[in-house]
Amino acid sequence: MSSESQLLADEAQYCSFGDTVHYVNPPKIFDRCEGSYMYDAQGTPYLDLQMWYSAVNFGYGNERLNNVLKKQLDVLPQVASQYLHPTKIELAKVIAQDAERKFGYKGRVHFNVGGSQSVEDSLKLVRNATEGKSLMFAFEGGYHGRTLGASAITSSYRYRRRYGHFGERAHFVPFPYPFRRPRGMTPEEYSEHCVAGFARLFETEYNGVWDPKVGQAEYAAFYVEAIQGTGGYVVPPPDFFKGLKKVLDQYGILLVVDEIQMGFYRTGKLWAIEHFGVKPDVLVFGKALTNGLNPLAGLWAREELINPTVFPPGSTHSTFASNPLGTAVGLETMKMLAEVDYEAMVMASGKHFLEGLKDLQKRHREIGDVDGLGLALRAEICTEDGFTPNKALLDRMVDIGLSGDLDYKGKKMGLVLDVGGYYKNVITFAPSLHITPEEIDQGLALLDQLLTRAKN
Ligand code: PMP
Repeated sequence: MSSESQLLADEAQYCSFGDTVHYVNPPKIFDRCEGSYMYDAQGTPYLDLQMWYSAVNFGYGNERLNNVLKKQLDVLPQVASQYLHPTKIELAKVIAQDAERKFGYKGRVHFNVGGSQSVEDSLKLVRNATEGKSLMFAFEGGYHGRTLGASAITSSYRYRRRYGHFGERAHFVPFPYPFRRPRGMTPEEYSEHCVAGFARLFETEYNGVWDPKVGQAEYAAFYVEAIQGTGGYVVPPPDFFKGLKKVLDQYGILLVVDEIQMGFYRTGKLWAIEHFGVKPDVLVFGKALTNGLNPLAGLWAREELINPTVFPPGSTHSTFASNPLGTAVGLETMKMLAEVDYEAMVMASGKHFLEGLKDLQKRHREIGDVDGLGLALRAEICTEDGFTPNKALLDRMVDIGLSGDLDYKGKKMGLVLDVGGYYKNVITFAPSLHITPEEIDQGLALLDQLLTRAKN
């Protein structure tokens, strides 16, 4: 294999930078991964507290999933998507039956290779189900992918400005962000304020006289993440979605829940929206379905929206959609999630981690906010006033973490962090759901060290 310096020189010359998200300096090349750790060429371990943006919920190199993948490789690795194979059907059944039990609707499951593609598919589905409507609601700070349609409903101007207008049109509504709520309001009041603002859109547009025909002709669906992912792991107050859903129901607008980042027990429930007591019409999933082993994502929708009359054959297609390697691993993931009490496990680990972050906050004024649900946790990095976003400090922290030059009990280590948030100043923690209490303590000690070094 080429030397690390040769690889970096070749990367600079031959690789597109179009998919570079947070380019660290110097760039890092990893050689190996296992459990909660990645290793560089020198064998230095890096504790990973973001797990491929929440795709690797069971930890790297999960043996059981690896074995399923190996077996599927030997038996039936490839099937053209016009033909059937067992695990596609079995996986669809498991997800649809679970949704029926939880939400009370019969429904169907549709697969594609990635999250963005599944969001695209959901946009087509929603258009079909609403007689061609293409205007959506979505949240400020929301993220739904970078393909053309998904960019259009993603609020970030940076992602949308060149490409977003090729897809649907979206109206962006404020998300109740407890830490940055207006002065003098409680999080709950701010949440009600956001819902009231959304409801007012209809009241004022139509002078208080709602004509369902006019309304239904305009807006098809509201795209939500129950907890904002790329937006900085923002957890809304408990009653927020109930309030929002009431308005949606009043005006016949569908609720599409994007669980691509928060699904599969990241927050302590299979779907994060389960914490908020509302039922989705469409639910999109991806990432952790296969523990990041093989690309597979998809969506579930209520029967009325997805039956073959509304969503006919050929509505979407990808050569690799519902590929057997992905569906075999996805099916095993669902089995594993049903065997262990992940809710209890994730809630206990999340509590331990959050308490540790709160302790750390006492020692570092630059941590303005810590919050989270389950093992989706946030720490907002600010200036010394504890409020002004400090992206530069967080960028330094990420770089130092990836230098592999931290010390833990005399051992050289690194720390892998992800950055999110409206101001790109939030550490979004998505550790393995199997992270041990010792690994959490190690992470907290490394963060402490990192902050101290980055500040000086
Ligand atoms: N929606 C959400 C909430 C996401 O977090 C992501 C990925 N970060 C996507 C959609 C897009 O998924 P993918 O990267 O697999 O296309």
